[in-house]
Amino acid sequence: MVIKNTNFCIVLSSPSGAGKTTISKMLLKKDKSICLSISCTTRPKRKGEVNNKDYIFLSDTQFNKAISQKKFIEHAKVFGFKYGTLKLTVDNFYKKKKDVLFDIDWQGFQQLKQSNKEVVGIFILPPSKKELIKRLKTRDRDTKEEMKKRMSLVQNEISHFPEYDYVVVNKNLENCVEQIKNIISSERLKRSRLINLTNFVGKFQI
Ligand code: 5GP
Repeated sequence: MVIKNTNFCIVLSSPSGAGKTTISKMLLKKDKSICLSISCTTRPKRKGEVNNKDYIFLSDTQFNKAISQKKFIEHAKVFGFKYGTLKLTVDNFYKKKKDVLFDIDWQGFQQLKQSNKEVVGIFILPPSKKELIKRLKTRDRDTKEEMKKRMSLVQNEISHFPEYDYVVVNKNLENCVEQIKNIISSERLKRSRLINLTNFVGKFQI
């Protein structure tokens, strides 16, 4: 008999420029039991982004309709645009017995914790302020305006780190991903998550 564990949600949050997107992609490659939750957003599509792959891009009207229909498990305004996770996205992955990875902000994490799902929160920190600014400036995906807005909000985002279960510093990308993999492995072994443990142990009675 194989001991199975209940699925859970893994939330990665960080200030912009800490490397969350790259980390998520690497994790997904390394662990096939994890699926990435694709969020909805009203933010305009960036160069190279693909609808339904990077985000589900919605108009403001479509987003508001989904809110009124209670389709989101969480939603929030981030940097002036709306972002949200559809309940259906999470439910579909759960049906496939996958753990679900979320690249969402602290507001979404708070809401997800209020849902009936088990949630593990990991906060990623950059190694230094200097490095964060360097990464923000060189990532070549934000407009100057957007970058300024993101930089001004770094302090506020970082202030939420105490709400998370784990904090990982992304100094070296490979190490950081390894640490997150270890966190996930340990979380899968939590006694409270092991479904058929009592049954399994019962078999040892002579
Ligand atoms: P970006 O526009 O750079 O892709 O994302 C901006 C911020 O929105 C990031 O901090 C990202 O984690 C957050 N975000 C992305 N999707 C969601 C979501 O579905 N819900 C919430 N609450 N935040 C999200």
